[in-house]
Amino acid sequence: MKVILAILVSFSFYIVAPPPVRAADNVVLITLDGLRWQEVFTGIDRDLATHERFNTQTEFIMERFWRNSSQNRAETLLPFIHNTVFKEGSYVGNRNIGSCSAVTNEWYFSYPGYSEILTGVVNNAIDSNAKNPNPERTMLELLDLQAGFEGKTAAFASWDVFPFIFNTKRSGVHVNAFHPEKIPADQFEETLTQLHKDIPTPWATVRNDAFTHHYAISYILREKPRVTFISYGETDDFAHDGKYDEYIIAAHRTDRFIQDVWETLQSSESYKDNTVLFITVDHGRGEEPIEAWRHHGSKRSLNGYMNSLAEYEKGIVGSEAVWMAALGPGVAKTGLITTGSECIGSNRIAATLLTILGEDYQELNPNMGEPITEFLH
Ligand SMILES: [Zn+2]
Repeated sequence: MKVILAILVSFSFYIVAPPPVRAADNVVLITLDGLRWQEVFTGIDRDLATHERFNTQTEFIMERFWRNSSQNRAETLLPFIHNTVFKEGSYVGNRNIGSCSAVTNEWYFSYPGYSEILTGVVNNAIDSNAKNPNPERTMLELLDLQAGFEGKTAAFASWDVFPFIFNTKRSGVHVNAFHPEKIPADQFEETLTQLHKDIPTPWATVRNDAFTHHYAISYILREKPRVTFISYGETDDFAHDGKYDEYIIAAHRTDRFIQDVWETLQSSESYKDNTVLFITVDHGRGEEPIEAWRHHGSKRSLNGYMNSLAEYEKGIVGSEAVWMAALGPGVAKTGLITTGSECIGSNRIAATLLTILGEDYQELNPNMGEPITEFLH
C-alpha cells in the first residue's frame, strides 16, 4: 500500500506543474479598435493624409503629425506608446522589420477579435457582430470565480456589443458599455451621465471614447479592480466613415488617454509598481487599393457577415495584422520582439496575462492559446 501511495505521490508530483509565480497583482488590458500597425510604427500616411476624399483637415494633420522620418512621425502620433510603453516594455507587430502578430480567428472583425483576446479561445462559430451571448468565457469571468478576484474584474467600452461579448447575464462581470452607468456613484459620475444625455452620440452603436475613459478611471480609483478592460472605439468608426484626419486625431487622443490610465495607476498606492498594462487591437485594416484602409474582413467573411464588401474579391488583404505592447512588472524590457517566420496570435494574450497574475491558464481553460513567453520576464 505504502509503495503504491509513494508511486502515486511521486507520479502526481511529476505531472502537475507548479502554478506560475505571480509577477503583478493587477492587469489593465486596453484595446484601440482597428488602429493599423502601419500608423503605429510609421505614423501618418502621406497619400491618405493628403487625399481629398478622406480629409477636410489635411493642412492641420500634415502640420501637426507629418515628419520626414517614419520613426519621428510614429512618435509624434503616439508619444506615450513609443516613448514609455515600447521603451520600457515589449512590443510586436512591426511587419517592416520582421515582427509579426495577427488574429487567429478566420473573420478579421470585432466580435470574433475581442472574443479571441478576452477568452484566449478561437471559436470560428462566432462569425458576426450580432448581439449574441458569448458561448466562451472571458478571462474576467473565469477569474471572478477564483479566490482574490471575486467582484474584482470590470470592463469599459464604447461599443454596445460588449455586454454580449462578456455574456453579462451569465458572468455578472461589471460592463459599462455605450450607455451611462445606471447608478452614478458620485458627483463626478453624475456629471458624466448628464453630459452623456446632453452631447449627441456620434454613432448609433458607439459613443465618444471620453465617456468610456472617464468612467473607467473613476471606477478604478473607487473600486480597485484587479483586472480592468478598456476598449476605445473611435479609431474604427472614423475609419469606416472614411475620415482619415479624424482617425489620426482619435489615435493621438487615445494615446493621451492611455497615458492618463498609466499615470493614474502609478500615482495610486494600490496599483503603483504592481500593475501590468497590455495594449492591442481587435483587427487590422486594408492597405491596397488605397480606399481599403477604411475596411477590414477576411475573404471568407465576405460570403457572410461582411458581404457589403463583396467587391473586394480577396477580402481586405492584411486586415488580420495586429500589434501588441506591454509594460510593467513581469514584462520583459525587450523592446521590439522579432518573430522570424512566426506570427504571434491574439489568442495567446489571455494566457499571458493570467500567467503574469500567477494563475494556471490551463486549469481555467485548456483551450486557450499558450502564453507569449517573449513578453514575460
Ligand atoms: Zn470595424
